[in-house]
Amino acid sequence: MAHRITEECTYCGACEPECPVNAISAGDDVYIIDESVCTDCVGYHDEAACVAVCPVDCIFKV
Ligand code: SF4
Repeated sequence: MAHRITEECTYCGACEPECPVNAISAGDDVYIIDESVCTDCVGYHDEAACVAVCPVDCIFKV
């Protein structure tokens, strides 16, 4: 389980500092979630922190 950022990402960077496990980093055109690191925020938040702050709703659970 993990989350993924789509190409709709506007590169705003809002999600990166919110991730409790530092799974998010800036890619070339969009931000990227390391799916081997993402825990879906289990143990940290009731819902995914990145999803909660994304202004364009471009993060989904895979
Ligand atoms: Fe990080 Fe949580 Fe988003 Fe996974 S769901 S990338 S752990 S903020």
